[in-house]
Amino acid sequence: MTDRIVIPIAERRYDAALPHVPESPEPPSGRLFDTRGRRMHDLRISVTDRCNFRCTYCMPKSVFDKDYAFLPQSSLLSFEEIARVVRVFVAHGVEKVRLTGGEPLLRKDVERLVGMLAELRTASGEPLDLTLTTNGSLLARKARALRDAGLRRVTVSLDALDDATFRAMNDVDFPVADVLAGIEAAKAVGFGSVKVNMVVKRGVNDDQIVPMAAYFRGSGHIVRFIEFMDVGASNGWRLDDVLPSREVVARIDAAHPLEPVDPNYPGEVAERWRYRDGTGEIGVISSVTQPFCGECSRARLSTEGRLYTCLFASAGHDLRGLLRGGCDDVQLAGAVSHLWALRADHYSEVRSAETAGLRKIEMSYIGG
Ligand code: SAM
Ligand code: SF4
Ligand code: SF4
Repeated sequence: MTDRIVIPIAERRYDAALPHVPESPEPPSGRLFDTRGRRMHDLRISVTDRCNFRCTYCMPKSVFDKDYAFLPQSSLLSFEEIARVVRVFVAHGVEKVRLTGGEPLLRKDVERLVGMLAELRTASGEPLDLTLTTNGSLLARKARALRDAGLRRVTVSLDALDDATFRAMNDVDFPVADVLAGIEAAKAVGFGSVKVNMVVKRGVNDDQIVPMAAYFRGSGHIVRFIEFMDVGASNGWRLDDVLPSREVVARIDAAHPLEPVDPNYPGEVAERWRYRDGTGEIGVISSVTQPFCGECSRARLSTEGRLYTCLFASAGHDLRGLLRGGCDDVQLAGAVSHLWALRADHYSEVRSAETAGLRKIEMSYIGG
């Protein structure tokens, strides 16, 4: 048998030139703004690149197979390293932190990390808006511990109510009922309203739009319909597979009349709609047909500690190297502020057939 070296896709190439960070970057004071005046406000952290699902639009089995080289444990940022990075980000204006992945609930003792982050306070002394996105498969088991540790909100992904459709999309034969049980468990332990993310792929699960809306209408949970995106380089994205959000809204409106709602805050990614009869609301996230780069305030920390300033970036800056190289918090803050100050990302505004073919970082690695 010959040895086969498999390099994780996320590592295969980073050809875009990364900005150089000076050895002693200027320490920042206060909030950070990029070249387009966008404030750094949110941080998404991928706590693992592994997942127990193989959603066809995210980790297709053809690529994420038994030979796929996921990151070794030693490459992952430790909880202490993550908490240190978050502390620096929070000192410079981040108020919202989302744990994601991969499947974040697969990371051992993730509730310990939640507990560490829940202790941090923003510049105005408020607790962080600390949230987590999960496929829901382990939520029924973990909801209580997450809540007790201080998690404030949870988002659950669910792409269909029809069991056969859902099993085909997660591609590991996972049943809908167990995800629904996770959502109920989250409600029961006090998470209240859960956001339910549904990625819509034309011809695959678009027949589930109205049933999903109808099922969650009146439940207090908010379904958010997400346009299928060309993240990563392995999901075979084609524009024809994208069902524009305006069509999602039209279909739901025809069955259960809707009216628009003002955003909760400026720059909210999901466009809000409520049922005219007062039975709740939905959201649509139109990253393909109505890009929201102009308001994008998100930084992303990959599983192994690279900082990305856009979901579609092809390169990230190695913060782990700084951490493990003995930098202090002032140097770390200087590097972050330097990188954010240079940020000019606006991929979704310039998306085209050519950009869709670029080699980009996989969502499971960078954190969705
Ligand atoms: N495993 C967790 C989950 O599925 O909720 C967290 C990570 S997942 C990458 C985060 C979110 O990204 C999920 O709601 C998922 O549906 C969404 N997502 C993944 N690939 C996508 C794509 N190609 N287009 C749009 N959304 C996508
Ligand atoms: Fe896993 Fe989430 Fe990606 Fe599905 S969307 S494969 S659950 S990381
Ligand atoms: Fe933000 Fe990049 Fe998405 Fe634009 S394409 S909204 S800059 S993550």
